[in-house]
Amino acid sequence: MLTLMVVKTTESSSDGSSADRLKVVRNNTSQITLIGQELWLLVDRLCQMATVTLDNLRKEYDKGSIIAVDDVSLRVEDGEFVTVVGPSGCGKSTTLRMIAGLEQPTAGRITIGGEDVTDVHARRRDVAMVFQNYALYPHKTVEQNMAFGLRMSTDLSREQREATVHETATMMGIEELLDDRPSELSGGQKQRVALGRAIVREPDVFLFDEPLSNLDAKLRTTMRTEIQRLQEELDITAIYVTHDQEEAMTMGDRLAILNGGNLQQTGAPTDVYEHPKNEFVAGFVGSPSMNVLDVNVEHRENAVTLTNADGFEYTLTGERAQRLSSAVGDTVRLGVRPEDITVVDGTGIETAVEVIEPVGSDNYLYLDLPGEFIARVDSDTEPTTGDVVRVSFEETDLHLFDPESGASLLSEPPASVVAT
Ligand code: ADP
Repeated sequence: MLTLMVVKTTESSSDGSSADRLKVVRNNTSQITLIGQELWLLVDRLCQMATVTLDNLRKEYDKGSIIAVDDVSLRVEDGEFVTVVGPSGCGKSTTLRMIAGLEQPTAGRITIGGEDVTDVHARRRDVAMVFQNYALYPHKTVEQNMAFGLRMSTDLSREQREATVHETATMMGIEELLDDRPSELSGGQKQRVALGRAIVREPDVFLFDEPLSNLDAKLRTTMRTEIQRLQEELDITAIYVTHDQEEAMTMGDRLAILNGGNLQQTGAPTDVYEHPKNEFVAGFVGSPSMNVLDVNVEHRENAVTLTNADGFEYTLTGERAQRLSSAVGDTVRLGVRPEDITVVDGTGIETAVEVIEPVGSDNYLYLDLPGEFIARVDSDTEPTTGDVVRVSFEETDLHLFDPESGASLLSEPPASVVAT
């Protein structure tokens, strides 16, 4: 572990003036004296403590025939919890492994705390990674597993290591497991030990690679809360990879959505949900997925109407009609989330209910509209299969996408949603 001690001294010159100097003592071995501008550089560096930046990161395999990560740039602030989410094979793990130093990027740079670590060996990066398969040493006890990393990365004495392990184990509620071996533990206990082993090292950055995928649904929910609590308490920068959009939505300050090795959008979960930048993000975030259908944009009686050959019609009257006026005559992709659709008595789109799927507090109505068109309604709304109903949604809940690029034609993302 790198230890820096900053010492302020005042030095007098022969002309009677004096100047403050800061001495930075690095690992008790070397001293650096900073004056003027350099002091500000130090302050800047300290402020960035465990900020992680990825600049145009790329990873190719098999001489470039596989592009696992195409071009990813992302900044994770000190103490921030960012969840990297995307479908299987989109490059999440490869990105995380490059941050950990387990894979060398083909191109691009990685910094941690302002220091360029792209070519720094994994052991010398102050990061701790938690894996899906726990990666515990089977022949070591829990205590030995937890102490192992400390032995490798610090010069703590045996007594100090033991005390640190016991303190962390108590915090994690696993002190009664310290003498057990991994084979004697349940999946949840193993993952707690793996977490404890990461925490005990007091890393600058936590990296989580789908850590809860092997656990059952109930335990996953408990562990999600536990990881969030620990991250908040310890205030450690965390990057958490998952393919599960629900997990991503409930964890973390910010989402980073990947597809095909490229970052699609970053932002707070609700902002990304409400203002998806493109059709991929719109469909990936939210459950059931957003309904999407092709519609023609027509100009009728001072309004813009969206229609299709199956008799679908929706008239835009508000500010969105104006923003869509340049697309009159075009075909666009209309998106509306199942939870934004209501069954109405008055004016609405007439459609038959094909299937009703009760899911506890809600019913999913599969409607006779193009594609798989689902309305998520209150369980009190109970039509019978085959019933013809009228459904409606607010204009403000409507999303429209370019059919070729997939880019949103409407959303003005709020400040927290960063276009990439
Ligand atoms: P994710 O974590 O999003 O599921 P990965 O980062 O594991 O995706 O993989 C991204 C792509 O890179 C996939 O197509 C995967 O098959 C490929 N890939 C990953 N690791 C290697 C490797 N060591 N050799 C060749 N291809 C790899």
